[in-house]
Amino acid sequence: MKAHQLMPATLVLPFDTRPDLAATMDIQIPALAWQPVEDHRYRRTYHLDGCRVEVTAWQDDHQLCFSIEDSNENGPAEVGDHLRGEIERILRATFPVQIADLDLGTHPILVALHQRYAGVVVMWADPFEALVLTMLSQNRSGETVRQVYPQLADATGGATPAGLVSCGETRLREVIRSAGPYKAPRLFDTAVHVAASGGRGAFADRLAGLSPREALADLVALPGVAHKTAACVLVFATRTRATLPVDVHLFRVTDRLGLVDHDGRNTTATREALIARLLAHGGDVTLAHFVFLLVGRTTCTATAPACGGCFLNEHCRHAITAPPDPLPPEAAT
Ligand code: SF4
Repeated sequence: MKAHQLMPATLVLPFDTRPDLAATMDIQIPALAWQPVEDHRYRRTYHLDGCRVEVTAWQDDHQLCFSIEDSNENGPAEVGDHLRGEIERILRATFPVQIADLDLGTHPILVALHQRYAGVVVMWADPFEALVLTMLSQNRSGETVRQVYPQLADATGGATPAGLVSCGETRLREVIRSAGPYKAPRLFDTAVHVAASGGRGAFADRLAGLSPREALADLVALPGVAHKTAACVLVFATRTRATLPVDVHLFRVTDRLGLVDHDGRNTTATREALIARLLAHGGDVTLAHFVFLLVGRTTCTATAPACGGCFLNEHCRHAITAPPDPLPPEAAT
């Protein structure tokens, strides 16, 4: 057994609803900085004050547990009080509330989603980290981002704006190659802009001080940032209740469910109409937007929605109006 598996929990976060750590870590942008490891645990490295601090998270009944270790070249070691306090502050901010704590309104579909995913923790991320993770995830799978991000963080001292600038565009291109080397100039130019504007903290303060509309405009002015990326940053980092990221999965699932109507074309007008329809159920729907993606990854896949086994089929427009699922070959003979 590895040494880090013996480390006791140094931080415990209790929740009223039993946490669902696997679903929490599935597709949310902040979760892409965490790696699934043995025994249903997740691990990531924080780079603080020139130190690498490794955090392992696991679930124990109604609580999330974390071990915090100094990950230096001599192996795991105890972390000093100051660093530990800072990491604990970050972890408390990263795992703040659950879907159960949100108000998703009274629509039967949203009530069903609220119940099914009640234990999922709605994660938070520092705005610049959320921006980097979202840019890496453009046209790439979560698995690819999980592979690339630790390498990027190691090469840049934690994917800070200054670290990305110091790393340089050429080296960035190599480090993020599997997530798309064409993203290196965008990341570099964004880092230059944020670093010149005061760095990560100033970037966060600026977004927090702007109206949602202004913050969205600020973000989409950055290279390689369109509405979906900007909305991801605002939802996960600033908890905006004014917009949400619309991707093909949310587009498909909400339409099949009958929560929205559109002509199938993902245009700006369609996207804004979709957002307005979802927000009519309350601003907390923005924070919970990713539950539609969880449905899309499990039963409501693009090619073959498995309506027969879907917990939403009683209320779903597609399931009610479409022909039943064909019998599997062995049952049809
Ligand atoms: S019932 Fe079918 S179409 Fe509706 S959400 Fe579930 S899998 Fe998708």
